[in-house]
Amino acid sequence: MVETRCSLVMTKSLLLIPLFFLFSLCSNPTETQESFFNQTTDENPEETNATVPTKEFIISDYFDEMEFSVPQDYFAQEILVSEDVPQYVVDEYIEVQSLLNETVGSYNRYLMIIYTDNENSKNIFKRLEEVHWPFELNIVDGYLIASGCLTGSGYELNPPDVYALCLMDYNFVNNPHESIERGLSEAQRKAILYHGYIHEYFHRYQRAYHRELNMGTPEVGTPMWWIEGAAIVFPNIWLSQNYQNISAFEGLGFYDVNVEGMDLNSWYAWTKKEAMGVSDYDRCNNYEFGKNEEQYETAQCFIGMANAYLAYITSYQTVWVDIPSDIYELGFAKSFEKHVGMTMDEFYVKFNAFLREGNPDDLPPEGFWPTEPINSFVSFP
Ligand SMILES: [Zn+2]
Repeated sequence: MVETRCSLVMTKSLLLIPLFFLFSLCSNPTETQESFFNQTTDENPEETNATVPTKEFIISDYFDEMEFSVPQDYFAQEILVSEDVPQYVVDEYIEVQSLLNETVGSYNRYLMIIYTDNENSKNIFKRLEEVHWPFELNIVDGYLIASGCLTGSGYELNPPDVYALCLMDYNFVNNPHESIERGLSEAQRKAILYHGYIHEYFHRYQRAYHRELNMGTPEVGTPMWWIEGAAIVFPNIWLSQNYQNISAFEGLGFYDVNVEGMDLNSWYAWTKKEAMGVSDYDRCNNYEFGKNEEQYETAQCFIGMANAYLAYITSYQTVWVDIPSDIYELGFAKSFEKHVGMTMDEFYVKFNAFLREGNPDDLPPEGFWPTEPINSFVSFP
């Protein structure tokens, strides 16, 4: 019974998450850049009436009330799975999420859903109705209509009742990023899945700073390269430091588990070769990082490494905490300037030059990658 299966988590609460990896290193097929405001219209034109406080004021209050931007002191996320999904999937998610909460903080209203088919997903449909999911509840060819991992619900309500949602299909859980076809081990398959869990939860963390703003849309202006790239470099570092604490990897060494960009120096080497035009894979050869990486539609290469470089010339505290902490008030571009001391365009020039310095086989400069645990150099709120 799913109710039993999830009761452990449900009693403590619920919550959410958005998305995934992009590009060669990162791509979670379940992640879509779903806009939760797309379905929305202002249904209450009276709101502008002088007797009613401004909409901005009201909405902001509700986000305070939901404690949307405040880490909780309990396991504040929710996982819900179709009835035929084995219990170990739930247990593993909770294990990884619990560790993650110790690093980033436990944000609420993050709902991880893993679904199979219509027959076994009545519990999920019921929950999605409760959290105001506005789309048809129907799984067609293994895919829940409009599902994805960078999505949310309840923003359009007045008052808002917001959830961040990751709606993941069970096929992805079993075979993330075609790991079976690629001949990866069970441990590596799990590492890819966990990397996805971490990436998606990091998006929930990023959303805390955006409150009612729809992160990922051009109007809000937070660039894709930061949304996705910060959420790529984080799991790469976190997993490389923490895999030994996860039961699925007990007794295994780094190279038994190594996936995605966990091998930070290999990731760096690969990126540098691409930037210098000598990679065996053509896709990013000689690519210039820049304005294209600000939008989902046009972003192509080096988004994770751009964040690693930004942290190298500033700090991970700057990239993961200080910049987002002023997004709501200043917008991303101004917050970036305030905390980095240059414009984004200036940063692009520096980053492109950095990737092309020296020889394609050069190791990263001393101090490029952190060697201490994340919590020793970043203070999350
Ligand atoms: Zn993502």
